[in-house]
Amino acid sequence: MCRREKPYDSSSIFDLYYNSSFLILWIISPVMSLLAQYFAQQQFCVFVEYLSAHQAQWPVKTQFAGFPACMTLADRVHADDDEAPLQVAKQYPQEIEKVIHFSGKARDIQDFEQFLQDAKTRGQKNLLLLTGDKLKQHCYSHDLEPRTRYLESVNAVMEAKRQGGFHIGVAFNPFKYAEAEKEAQYLKLHKKMKAGADYVITQLGYDMAALQDAHAFLVQHQYAQKILACVMPLTLARAKFMLKHKVAGIVITPHILKVLQQEKEQGLSDRVYVRCALQILMCRHLGFAGGHLSACHQPEEQSLLERYIEEYRHLSFAECERLWNTLWQVQTGTEFHPKLAYYSRPATSSQIIKYQHLHLMHDALFESKLAKGVGRFIFNFNVWDRSRAKQALLKTEHLSKHAVVGCESCGQCRLGETLYICPETCPKGLANGPCGGTSLDRCEFGDRECIHSVKVRLAKAVGQTNILKEKLIPTVSIAVRGTSSWKNWYVEAAG
Ligand code: SF4
Repeated sequence: MCRREKPYDSSSIFDLYYNSSFLILWIISPVMSLLAQYFAQQQFCVFVEYLSAHQAQWPVKTQFAGFPACMTLADRVHADDDEAPLQVAKQYPQEIEKVIHFSGKARDIQDFEQFLQDAKTRGQKNLLLLTGDKLKQHCYSHDLEPRTRYLESVNAVMEAKRQGGFHIGVAFNPFKYAEAEKEAQYLKLHKKMKAGADYVITQLGYDMAALQDAHAFLVQHQYAQKILACVMPLTLARAKFMLKHKVAGIVITPHILKVLQQEKEQGLSDRVYVRCALQILMCRHLGFAGGHLSACHQPEEQSLLERYIEEYRHLSFAECERLWNTLWQVQTGTEFHPKLAYYSRPATSSQIIKYQHLHLMHDALFESKLAKGVGRFIFNFNVWDRSRAKQALLKTEHLSKHAVVGCESCGQCRLGETLYICPETCPKGLANGPCGGTSLDRCEFGDRECIHSVKVRLAKAVGQTNILKEKLIPTVSIAVRGTSSWKNWYVEAAG
């Protein structure tokens, strides 16, 4: 029988594509980290967390249940004075692939520039850049000491990208259950992508629907960046610890506690590892690029987890999910949600009116050609270099803005980019969006509503959501703080 020639052979085209991808990878691999290569080759990988307190006590894994593994070194998780991850990394062989965390708490952009310099010198390419939880010794402003500052992850990503040569990860918290705080997280994720993130690691959480949403978000917006899920074998003791210490951004519901308590009483504590294995496997099925394994440090714990991964590896997503739901006693899926007093809230009319007034004033006084010309003319005089004039100007600016928006004389006014909600009224001073620590719109510090939730509601009411998604707001360096932003604005407008 005569076989008709196929116009092309799809398998050889695939081979060609596949081989050329490998060829490209092989050519560029010296400049790519191993981790970037795993991602490029679509290999699911496991980040195994090591804390500085462990200091080479336990062997480092390069494979975890058959998946490539790298060590990930957390920054000041236990204590504010934990040894720096770059220092800890020195104690392990160079050829072990590492991810170095940098947390922005109590840091300035200059600290970060120094960190990047050191990372380059030590050949560390994989970074995970975080704004960071509240510093345990957070200082509120008083006469003796200035308030603690936080370098935002968006700004750290921008700088790392500008310098080049790094493979940059960012954190993301999809476990948010009030509308505004959830939208604020996703809007900031857009910014992190725009700033140059290469991969995303989620917060620790057990709500698989929220993890699915996070993955779907990347697909929907055609982001090529990889996403990994943070997982942890959740024991009753750990769950209680997290509740007691109010670990920022982690949701532990009464239902979770109830299940863990029952299991403990029935001697079924191994289920903690079964569930962790299932979560890793489900994430793999969903298209996650890997898992970030926290609090599973001891070799026995790791072996147990690996054993269960091997045991359930053959299951489909639906089978894993059935087992997961049975073990968690899931009926509706809301077992992982905190109790909500409300889901959605509109911006108030006074917030909208205030925005409109300030917007009009801002346009007239700072954006118009006339205003810039007059401002330039006024601030051109040398008198403004004299210390008394400087002080008088600063005081006038502070008096006129503090009562209205909470100004703290940062020297680089960002009100026009933050819908006139001053970033300084966030205890971490974040301008680009929220940290991961909100709880149903409440700030991680517990004393106020998160300003970024307020901002999202207002942005929706006045049709300005895009500004929260697109506008990358530069960080304020320590040097510019305590100077007049008016003068700085007009002088810069002149330049
Ligand atoms: S106001 Fe929002 S972003 Fe700022 S510290 Fe509180 S929770 Fe985090």
